[in-house]
Amino acid sequence: MRGCLVEEEMVVGLERKLAGLACEVRFGERLAPYTTFQVGGLADAFALPKDEAELVELIARCRAEGLRMTILGGGANTLIRDGGIRGVVICLVNGFREIGLVADDALLVEAGAGVKIPQLVRFAADRGLDGVECLAGVPGTVGGALAMNAGTAERFVGESVESIRWARLSGGMVETLPASRLTFIYREARFPEPGVVTAVRFRLRRGDAEALRVYLKENAALRRERQPWGVPCAGSIFRNPPGERAGRLIEAAGLKGRRVGGAEVSRVHANFLVNRGGATAADVLELIGEVQARVREAHGLNLELELKIVGEDVS
Ligand SMILES: Cc1cc2nc3c(=O)[nH]c(=O)nc-3n(C[C@H](O)[C@H](O)[C@H](O)COP(=O)(O)OP(=O)(O)OC[C@H]3O[C@@H](n4cnc5c(N)ncnc54)[C@H](O)[C@@H]3O)c2cc1C
Repeated sequence: MRGCLVEEEMVVGLERKLAGLACEVRFGERLAPYTTFQVGGLADAFALPKDEAELVELIARCRAEGLRMTILGGGANTLIRDGGIRGVVICLVNGFREIGLVADDALLVEAGAGVKIPQLVRFAADRGLDGVECLAGVPGTVGGALAMNAGTAERFVGESVESIRWARLSGGMVETLPASRLTFIYREARFPEPGVVTAVRFRLRRGDAEALRVYLKENAALRRERQPWGVPCAGSIFRNPPGERAGRLIEAAGLKGRRVGGAEVSRVHANFLVNRGGATAADVLELIGEVQARVREAHGLNLELELKIVGEDVS
């Protein structure tokens, strides 16, 4: 009872702190539906700015009120703990959806951070443009792809970035940053400081529309064959160690099909953990720990996470 009262007071306090903003804010929002794993607790506040002005105002208010900010894109590379996220989750999927060629330049494409990755890939392929096909079959948003430097083992999206629009979490206006101000490494983009990407400008190359069409079709078929399909998951859980494949190491340690609660090491691709129904973040985290321990025992290698883990355990 006391716990409920404290929670209620906290929500009322947060509502007051975020009152009058132009941006839509939902309180106590369940986050599982915003992730491809379909796991996770509640956000104290879930903010859905539609444009840069709303985002800038939101960040300024969070700064002024001392509220912690967490950025969520399409949730395709994120595990949210069962206790949810304190403070404000900023999610760009309700806006930032424009995509187009930049005037007078047939090779320059700008996409809002909330554009779905498959839409960007199709947009480029339809115009016979090379440079983002490394994102074929990758779910999530353009903002998430940029932040994760998503791609294949050989090609990363960062290679095709010309500039980004970006708002610092420390406040201020949205700025344009040239790619030279960013560092792209394996599955990570480094920014000058923490911030929210609002749009990405890609410098693409003239390619062959028919070859791209065939590539996308073959890629989709390969993914259906080699990755779990139609099951909630978050893609590859671990980074590939240099010169190795995390999936091969996990499979060789005999872990395919290993299960904790509703979480399972995929029988199709061992670097994917899948939610077989009703998985909690605690199940996933326990399975991750077990996989890391068994791979260390079997191969003497530490598997590092590619998955982003956010939020709190249940107290
Ligand atoms: C079935 C499946 C297959 C996958 N295959 C691949 C693959 O082949 N290659 C690959 O690289 N990935 C793959 N992934 C992982 C995932 O799709 C990518 O990492 C994708 O880029 C995540 O985008 P998102 O918007 O969902 O990011 P989220 O999971 O929402 O966020 C990921 C990180 O990016 C940050 N972020 C998100 N949006 C912004 C923003 N606007 N500004 C600043 N930071 C932001 C978040 O804070 C978080 O740290 C796969 C996932 C699944 C489920």
